[in-house]
Amino acid sequence: MNVINRVLVAGIPLVPKPIVGFFSRRYIAGETLEDAVRVVRELNRDGMMATLDVLGEEINTREEARSAADTYKQVLAVIQSEKLDANVSVKLTQMGLKHDARFCREIFRQVVHEARQRGIFVRIDMEDSTCTGETLAIYGDLRREFDNVGVVLQAYLRRTAADADSLMQDGRANFRLCKGIYVEPRLIAYGDKELINRNFTLVLERMLHDGAYVGIATHDERLVWEGMRLVRELGLLKERYEFQMLLGVDSELRKIILAAGHRLRIYVPFGEKWYRYSMRRLRENPQIARYVFQNVFRRA
Ligand SMILES: Cc1cc2nc3c(=O)[nH]c(=O)nc-3n(C[C@H](O)[C@H](O)[C@H](O)COP(=O)(O)OP(=O)(O)OC[C@H]3O[C@@H](n4cnc5c(N)ncnc54)[C@H](O)[C@@H]3O)c2cc1C
Repeated sequence: MNVINRVLVAGIPLVPKPIVGFFSRRYIAGETLEDAVRVVRELNRDGMMATLDVLGEEINTREEARSAADTYKQVLAVIQSEKLDANVSVKLTQMGLKHDARFCREIFRQVVHEARQRGIFVRIDMEDSTCTGETLAIYGDLRREFDNVGVVLQAYLRRTAADADSLMQDGRANFRLCKGIYVEPRLIAYGDKELINRNFTLVLERMLHDGAYVGIATHDERLVWEGMRLVRELGLLKERYEFQMLLGVDSELRKIILAAGHRLRIYVPFGEKWYRYSMRRLRENPQIARYVFQNVFRRA
């Protein structure tokens, strides 16, 4: 971590909670499901789809895991009853991946099953590299049973091209491809931005070429351009892919993607644990701290 990043990260806990709240508001829909529904309705009205993420921390007991699964079931019920154009994104550590992987698989399977009954898709977010193998194993198992589940691959991981190839063997893979947000050691992940972008493009091309459904998740206009180029060259129908962005980031890029006629899904995090979540994310990746500080100055 360079000196500037270290200073930024050290400074974050000194920022009073209401101020963190003020700047997080842009990236987080609110504390309640009602807040999230309101934001998704607005996005749907403006021609965008959404994916709902219930903010939470890694859990330590089966009760906590069950409670996280129950919350997601409530979200699924509301998506259906409110007729929202939305799906859900789930972090498996919230359902106990690191505590008891078998139990996690069991209760997450129930969430996917319930989502299928309601006609809703479930995306498994990808966490740090200690979770990759187990997360992909759970996705692989469930994908054989369900057609409404997909996973995330991170272009910064050295293993990702091989993972994509092996997961695509059954011909029905469903991915979100992103750069990756955690700070990983060099032996595991590319650190060079240019290399990460080249790997993103390489993996995206293979995925689209081999018939996988892909959520192209990035705010990097160079990668959005590569995505649009590949879609055009391969002559893909809109139903085969979508672009994805985080809530609160780069509204101009949103307009550019929509104006070009592509589908766009916005990632909408919400929940009571927004403060702990925001602080953890800021500590995990100083680049985000940099964005927060940049926004502080832009708004001043
Ligand atoms: C829909 C979606 C889902 C994601 N899911 C996962 C996941 O499951 N696992 C995972 O590891 N990562 C996930 N990510 C995060 C991703 O891995 C990247 O860390 C993040 O998107 C930044 O990379 P970028 O491609 O946008 O390019 P960058 O080069 O990092 O960003 C391009 C520009 O976008 C802006 N920007 C990017 N991120 C932010 C931000 N947070 N706040 C303000 N401005 C920003 C900046 O202006 C920046 O210059 C997800 C991202 C998206 C969009």
